[in-house]
Amino acid sequence: MTRSPVARHVRDIPRSGIRDFFEVVQTMQGVISLGIGEPDFVTPWHIREAAMYSLERGKTGYTSNLGLPKLREEISRYVARHFGVEYAPGSEVLVSVGVSEAIDLALRALIDPGDEVLYHEPCYVSYCPSIALAHGVPVAVPTHAADGFALRADELAARITPRSKVLMLNFPTNPTGATMTAAELEAIAEVCRRHDLIVLTDEIYSELTYEGVRHRSIASLPGMRERTIFLHGFSKAFAMTGFRIGYACAPAPLIDAMMKIHQYGILCAPITSQEAALAALRNGEPDAAAMRREYEGRRNFIVSAFNELGLPCHKPRGAFYVFPDIRPSGLSSPEFSLRLLREKKVAVVPGTAFGPSGEGYVRACYATSLPQIKMALDLIGGFCREVAAG
Ligand code: PLP
Repeated sequence: MTRSPVARHVRDIPRSGIRDFFEVVQTMQGVISLGIGEPDFVTPWHIREAAMYSLERGKTGYTSNLGLPKLREEISRYVARHFGVEYAPGSEVLVSVGVSEAIDLALRALIDPGDEVLYHEPCYVSYCPSIALAHGVPVAVPTHAADGFALRADELAARITPRSKVLMLNFPTNPTGATMTAAELEAIAEVCRRHDLIVLTDEIYSELTYEGVRHRSIASLPGMRERTIFLHGFSKAFAMTGFRIGYACAPAPLIDAMMKIHQYGILCAPITSQEAALAALRNGEPDAAAMRREYEGRRNFIVSAFNELGLPCHKPRGAFYVFPDIRPSGLSSPEFSLRLLREKKVAVVPGTAFGPSGEGYVRACYATSLPQIKMALDLIGGFCREVAAG
């Protein structure tokens, strides 16, 4: 073959830094992983039972492209109850294959080639490549430990050009656990209204906030509902990663545009997962609350432990990640992570996997048991002492 069979914009995308790292992890035995961003809980029993029962009743076909009407009604009620935003189940809710598919649909529905998409960084590994795959231009807005990794309105405004079209938000944030105060969020909303930006808000961690923080979505702020696509799912709060189920809520013309891509590419989300999601929304909130309490205890431990080791760690108020500063070790973030893995068999993710502004940090996920976390932190302590001793 004389020409490359792979399209240029796909060729140009680097492989995920996390994936490369975990290919090394998979070749090793006995690794303690603070790496993968996945709940260590199994999906609550009654949710699994609802999935099995739906199979037993022979529910094995396609659903409406938008998703089961009863699920869309439940989603609409849930979003109104928890986020204070009303969406019509018939035309403003689309059930997707995880938030992942919903992000892709939203970007492809919104972007013309060359449109600029802003996002705060460090951020979830898929944002930058998803923008590029949709022929957009990714524009990172750095966030800083000194601000608790919140997005600053002045930093955002400084990167806006006439081609800026979309802003992607994810609070609480993967990988930093950052949350935004109401005033900070309002300042961002003001920039969006002034510059006519459309917002994609990825709310996947919004149930996981601590210290009594009440999460607010930008969609609920004045003048924002009409310019926001609200994305949410079941993977994190309900420990349902393998069900691959999520949803998007937005004004009807935007859902209609996303729907065109979804119906030709995917048809509909799997019916068994939709039935499970319905059970999660109807009866799963106490389970989600119990998991959140457990995560909060682990967070308190891991933040103190990193600080005691001399690796400064801000106390995140959301998600299930900490993002300690590993610069006191004198190592770069990939060196720190690789050596820690090889020398102590502890996996953390180099901050650079989440964009260049993640250099100097690593991500540690505390969605693993407290005894494992304690063992990992002992080993990290030993590693830091050995590095310091040269
Ligand atoms: N968005 C963020 C910020 C995530 O961290 C993840 C998974 O880690 C996803 C989306 C993907 O979610 P889903 O499992 O619903 O596709």
